Amino acid sequence: MKILVQKFGGTSVADLKKMELCARRVIEAIEKGYRPVVVSSAMAGETDALIELARQAHPRPPERELDALLATGEQKAVALFAMTLNRLGYPAVSLCGWQVPIVTDAVHTKARIKKVGKSKLLKLLEDGYVPVVAGFQGVTEDGEVTTLGRGGSDTTAVALAAALKADCEINTDVPGVFTADPRVVPTARKIPRISYEEMLELASLGAKVMQIRSVEFAAKYGVRIHVRSTFSPEEGTWIVPEEEVMEKLAVRGITMDTGETRFTVVKVPDRPGIAAEIFKALGDAHIVVDMIVQNVSHDGFTDMSFTVSKNDADRAEEIVRKIAQKIGAKEVVRDDRVAKISIVGIGMRSAYGVAGRMFDILARNGVNIKAISTSEIKISCLIDEKYAELAVRALHEEFIEELEELQTD
Ligand code: ADP
Ligand code: ASP
Ligand code: MG
Repeated sequence: MKILVQKFGGTSVADLKKMELCARRVIEAIEKGYRPVVVSSAMAGETDALIELARQAHPRPPERELDALLATGEQKAVALFAMTLNRLGYPAVSLCGWQVPIVTDAVHTKARIKKVGKSKLLKLLEDGYVPVVAGFQGVTEDGEVTTLGRGGSDTTAVALAAALKADCEINTDVPGVFTADPRVVPTARKIPRISYEEMLELASLGAKVMQIRSVEFAAKYGVRIHVRSTFSPEEGTWIVPEEEVMEKLAVRGITMDTGETRFTVVKVPDRPGIAAEIFKALGDAHIVVDMIVQNVSHDGFTDMSFTVSKNDADRAEEIVRKIAQKIGAKEVVRDDRVAKISIVGIGMRSAYGVAGRMFDILARNGVNIKAISTSEIKISCLIDEKYAELAVRALHEEFIEELEELQTD
């Protein structure tokens, strides 16, 4: 039995007309000899609307109840999807996370998948049904409903593909993974093949086309992912092991992330243990710190800057203000209007001069760099949010469009 997991995102199932187009994709796969397992997100805007409703009911809704509410978005979508397939003459059965079951840990709103039940799915397939599984949700060992974090239907799909040893098709509103967000850079181009590692960096640095955890999962279990458009038959992007990627480009893609806040602790006494005190307190509060910059010390004082996710910024501010007072720092400055711009590519490992070129392009465009961080295959610069799109376009022109010209001349 050649199983194919087909995931459809929120915009793909936005209304019943679009859902029918998705159902037709499923039928095409059946006609090609596959036995599809469908994963659907909630209809576009539904999850946001439910979150808003929850906030109206309670300013900080209990996470258990938030999960119970958010799971209804996908439950509604899969029931409608299964009805549509049945109407078109293909027997289908919808399943919530608990019915599969997709067993997770108990961390509400960002649960991790621990186990995937496959016997029920296999039985349905053998009996000639198309299982239509609710994305984004699971169940704990104790029977509590959980959700997997925003964009979590991608992870449901990859987990099912891993369990069923199937390929995984991610059907979305763009025709693949692009060299930059096609909505920001109109000249961005589709990447035919990309390694797990590069996709993981792109996803972590702001390319929301795939949820980060889904790519981690795929890399761990070797699931091959095909990201493609729901609404066009063209071949999309394959996310595969590095050995299968022929071209090792220094810059495969460019991302932008406006989801972080920068704090600067001004005039910190420059003595051992101060950084430890600040970052340990943030760590104890489960706040992930991303970029850190410490300026050169003057007269025994230094400035220290760091970024955290905007979601954690209020809590981080409370903690840092308390510590700043205790250690005698002058003040804490908060800046929400920053953007992190990154370039990513496995070829960067063996290329030289890439960072210099990146900084030069930003300088030529009058963009000041507030912080820098690097890894083996990426360079990130923190800049003023208002220059974010300009910077992404300029970097794209220099690193990607230039390269294409060289290759095709
Ligand atoms: P879905 O609802 O199908 O899960 P998402 O909205 O989560 O879709 O992800 C698709 C969106 O990701 C696209 O509409 C696009 O704007 C955005 N995106 C950001 N960066 C990229 C990129 N490098 N390549 C493709 N899409 C990207
Ligand atoms: N519906 C959820 C969200 O909007 C999960 C998903 O779409 O993947 O985040
Ligand atoms: Mg998504």
